[in-house]
Amino acid sequence: MLVYAVFGDPVEHSLSPAMQNAAFSALGLSARYLAFRVRRERLRDAILGAEAMGFGGLNLTIPLKEEALKVVDPDDNAAAMGAVNTVAFVDGEGGRIQGYNTDGLGALRALEGAGVRVEGRRVLVIGAGGAAKAIARQLALSGAELSIANRAPRRALDLAAAVGGRGYGLSDLDKLVPEAEVIVNATSVGMREGDPRLVDGRLFREGQTVFDIVYNRETELLQDAANAGAKVLDGVMMLVYQGALSIEVWTGRRAPVDVMEQAVREELRNR
Ligand code: NAP
Repeated sequence: MLVYAVFGDPVEHSLSPAMQNAAFSALGLSARYLAFRVRRERLRDAILGAEAMGFGGLNLTIPLKEEALKVVDPDDNAAAMGAVNTVAFVDGEGGRIQGYNTDGLGALRALEGAGVRVEGRRVLVIGAGGAAKAIARQLALSGAELSIANRAPRRALDLAAAVGGRGYGLSDLDKLVPEAEVIVNATSVGMREGDPRLVDGRLFREGQTVFDIVYNRETELLQDAANAGAKVLDGVMMLVYQGALSIEVWTGRRAPVDVMEQAVREELRNR
């Protein structure tokens, strides 16, 4: 039996074990996916230990994605994003330890799966943290006309300069939201009940798509957007597709996204 794992800190609320184990069973693979709390300063030991023990592969989550660049050999995409969320042990023990980042493509697949095209369309990304970087880069590569707004405007300007787009502060949202065709919330705002609203709900309109990458609850942002007649998309399918892409990296098999989505939604219902 092959062992796979997610490393993070904290990691006890990760949905990845339920999602990835459901995928492995549906594929008929003899594999088990576990979660381990790994401190940042022990990441090197943990990755090398997993390799020595013949693990099939790893996912990395907060706060390890950037640190991993010191340990693994990143592909061009992960190097450009400065973060790794998937580790593959190529040629087994003693072989190469390769790092990938599937967050950006996961977000794109989630949009495409909902029938949303981004090429040539005005897309607004709110946020400039780790997830926003991956998403903005992928959307720019896919031909979106990109605006990025962030609480710390400097980070939005830097990200926009790096991927191609325009950077703003949050005070510009009043102007940016009505103009955008696709709006992505890539901040952590909305994860907790009682979080402040990032966007005045009256700015949304029919014909827009609003994608909130927060996946642990239905956010006020999505409620407001749905009330205004916009098409809405929560963060579950991005989670599913980034995990599905990891499975494809490790096994070369197409991952069963429907089964994975069901496992995630069931796990969320039971919490
Ligand atoms: P991160 O690197 O810490 O970035 C956090 C972002 O949120 C920054 O842009 C930050 O702005 C902004 N922010 C935080 N608090 C804010 C507030 N009160 N008002 C306005 N902006 C605020 O985190 P991350 O890794 O990018 O993750 C962000 C969210 O995405 C989390 O909720 C995470 O669960 C979710 N996520 C989902 C998926 C998925 O598959 N669906 C994948 C990855 C992440 P500043 O730069 O100004 O601090």
